[in-house]
Amino acid sequence: MKSVKDVDVSNKKVLVRVDYNIPMDENQNITDDNRIRATLPLIEYLKNQNASIILISHMGRPKGEKIAKLSLAPVAARLSELLNQKIGFMDDCVGKKVEARAGQLKNCEILLLENLRFHKQEKSNDPVFAKKLADLCDVYINDAFAVSHRDQASVTGIPAFAPVAAAGFLLEKELNSYYDSIENPKRPLVAIIGGAKVSGKLEALQNMLKFVDKLIIGGAMANTFLKSQGVDTKGSLVENDLVKTAADIVKQAKKSGVELFLPIDLVVAEKFDKYAIIKEVELDDIPDNFLALDIGSKTSRLYAEALADASTIVWNGPMGVFEMDNFIAGTKKVAQAVAKSRAFSIVGGGDTGLAVKKCNVDNKISYISTGGGAFLYLMEGKQLPGVKALQKN
Ligand code: AMP
Repeated sequence: MKSVKDVDVSNKKVLVRVDYNIPMDENQNITDDNRIRATLPLIEYLKNQNASIILISHMGRPKGEKIAKLSLAPVAARLSELLNQKIGFMDDCVGKKVEARAGQLKNCEILLLENLRFHKQEKSNDPVFAKKLADLCDVYINDAFAVSHRDQASVTGIPAFAPVAAAGFLLEKELNSYYDSIENPKRPLVAIIGGAKVSGKLEALQNMLKFVDKLIIGGAMANTFLKSQGVDTKGSLVENDLVKTAADIVKQAKKSGVELFLPIDLVVAEKFDKYAIIKEVELDDIPDNFLALDIGSKTSRLYAEALADASTIVWNGPMGVFEMDNFIAGTKKVAQAVAKSRAFSIVGGGDTGLAVKKCNVDNKISYISTGGGAFLYLMEGKQLPGVKALQKN
């Protein structure tokens, strides 16, 4: 895969796939502009090279419809503030008007095109649509790590038609942070895997066993593991069809010499509710009909100890229902332990990124990925389709 630094972009028209799918409130005020800021180094570099810059992104899930509240117009305004420069904005991403405007673009000018997903051809990876976008540029740069696991026109389609295709700084930084942590880590290397389901993270769990020294498990997925070890999990969320698989992972960990950590106590409640009264219980003491919604304090102490001597930490998935204050304690203790350790720590985006922010330790994490799904894809040991497409070009 070529880097933007390996290709000649000076005086060229450069089409950059960014990920500006950012959270906004009902009035279309941007509530977190991290993803915009993450692309500034590349934009500044391209400007220094006298390139003209066309930015493309999706926002939300408009399903091929033009939906006003999913417009990228507010992003153009914020980008303009951040760069202190006028940003051109087009109300479509393809068509005659776009072609004409892109054709006239001067060096160092920046143009943001409207939400790619207003066309269903983006998600279906339609080659005609991809070629129209590719025809706007001399060079295509993918700087959208968070969508690089998608087989979509702007990710894998355009590189098949663009004269030159390369990776942007953010994509490179994401890949380097991840691969350095996993393939060339300072040991001990500890993975923390939590979140909702074993099924969603099965491949990641299996792949991590090949690399890590310790594997810490939390979240609802821990219930399936506990059940596989004979715990009566009562009303907790359990994937019964994966109980045997969970038992196999425990066995595999032993065989591979990986120290596996499961909860030794739990925070339970009668219902999934932010006002539910919580109880902390031993594993053999879950009351009938109660469900486990966080790890207990003995468990968080155990996990914090396991993290204390780590040199590298990879974390994906919260330890409990961190969105509700009554079930955030476990995630917070683990987040604090990660922050306190001297390890290089990398956190998968999505929910885990939100959780570390909510626990106010985000500035103590070495790297918070901008991608949730794409990060998990890497943890599964797979190569991102967006990266493969760049290599093929
Ligand atoms: P994931 O996307 O797989 O990382 O899952 C994140 C979600 O898992 C969050 O929304 C959490 O609320 C949820 N979660 C974590 N622990 C539990 C639990 N014990 N029971 C139910 N949901 C949980």
